[in-house]
Amino acid sequence: MTRRDAGIHVPPECRDMIRAGTLVAISTSGGKDSQAMTILLSRIVPRDQLLAVHAPLEDVEWPGTIEHIEATLPGGVPLILAHVTSGKTLLDRIEERGRFPSPGVRWCTSDQKRGPIERELRRFLKANPRFGDRIVSAMGMRAEESPARARKTPWKFSERNSRAGRTWFDWLPIHDLTEGQVFDVIRDAGQAPHPAYAMGMSRLSCVFCIMASRADLRTAALLQPQLYARYCALERRIGHTLSPSGAPLPELTGIPMPRPDLPVDAPLP
Ligand code: SF4
Repeated sequence: MTRRDAGIHVPPECRDMIRAGTLVAISTSGGKDSQAMTILLSRIVPRDQLLAVHAPLEDVEWPGTIEHIEATLPGGVPLILAHVTSGKTLLDRIEERGRFPSPGVRWCTSDQKRGPIERELRRFLKANPRFGDRIVSAMGMRAEESPARARKTPWKFSERNSRAGRTWFDWLPIHDLTEGQVFDVIRDAGQAPHPAYAMGMSRLSCVFCIMASRADLRTAALLQPQLYARYCALERRIGHTLSPSGAPLPELTGIPMPRPDLPVDAPLP
């Protein structure tokens, strides 16, 4: 049995680790789930044991994401930005590979997010011996999002990351929260989610995500026409589509492809 604290289940082992001074790292995308998780964790974990880490997606993430994380982070909680060491953006990598990632082969997440975040967390632990090489890595995935996420274990020892004396657990503190509860947590804390939600998006992170709904792709295309033009141009160049359905963006969004002679960084006419 687990006890419910501040709207989340805290596994007994996790509770013991928090009491023993373990580092609790919050992976944040700046999206609503990360934001609600941060609010809830800041109520049960001492601030000096909390750390936020964000993997910036540079030109493909929603503008203002880092500023939003900074503005909504509880006082005293440091934020680390986990950049890719190669300096290559997601669009660079897609161009190199000649293919977009897919839900089944989601190298975008491991390349651009999980890898850099885990690297930074290892560095932070090493530089802060007071945590005794023990870490709980919290992520905001929810069961409601997809069958694959519903199957995830909310509290799990990480074999892969527990090396060289390090003890690493992965925790999904808001796994059983609904979308409505997530927005309630944010509102009740006196905060607002990133403005992209109010403009019609249902998810944040990459503006154009391989798993986005048609409605989100259309909204994103209307809100970010320059980036939309770059994605359309990239689809044409590599002959592969963002959508696993194989339908190109203009067909999915109903918004025409930019003119072939349009420079890729120019705004749509
Ligand atoms: S938001 Fe979508 S496209 Fe971007 S890294 Fe995550 S899964 Fe890949």
